[in-house]
Amino acid sequence: MPESNCRTAIYPGTFDPPTSGHLDILSEAALLFNRVVAGVGINPGKLPLFAIEERVEMLRETVAAKSMGGVEVAAFEGLTVDFARACGAAFIVRGLRAVTDFEHELGLVLANEQLDDGIKTVFIMPSHRYLYLSSSIVRQAAEVGRRIIPGSVPASVEARLRARFGF
Ligand code: ADP
Repeated sequence: MPESNCRTAIYPGTFDPPTSGHLDILSEAALLFNRVVAGVGINPGKLPLFAIEERVEMLRETVAAKSMGGVEVAAFEGLTVDFARACGAAFIVRGLRAVTDFEHELGLVLANEQLDDGIKTVFIMPSHRYLYLSSSIVRQAAEVGRRIIPGSVPASVEARLRARFGF
């Protein structure tokens, strides 16, 4: 494996919107790898609240605000393994929360291994504060309750949620 590949990872996701849990994983990944590309995916199975451009902007603003070195943000369409190759990455980083994530993630690992066995998936567990935090919980609190769960999202995401739902 070329040396450059050993140092680059992608962190793919929908990030609709990015949460403090995503940021926790990203900052841990930045400690493990020289370069981490957060890949904001276009998922045909999910109708997102935020457009792909907005999700990329929110992540970029947060990465800049937190001065995370070696972290880039890009949009991607298509297979995760192809995006990893395009980034020169040999690793996919995923977050693992409660047990409910495990089965879904195992399926993805097995599929990605069949598609490209040169790319390995690395799991990072978040701080206990974020174990049950998800983008969908954040969306529901904002949409249904016009509330922000304290500490759940970075400032730029909170501003966009408030603007979107008018509170
Ligand atoms: P996807 O549709 O690919 O699951 P998400 O944006 O929901 O996209 O999640 C991207 C990655 O971040 C996944 O690996 C997911 O398990 C992880 N993740 C999401 N929320 C958290 C959290 N609160 N703590 C740790 N990892 C998380």
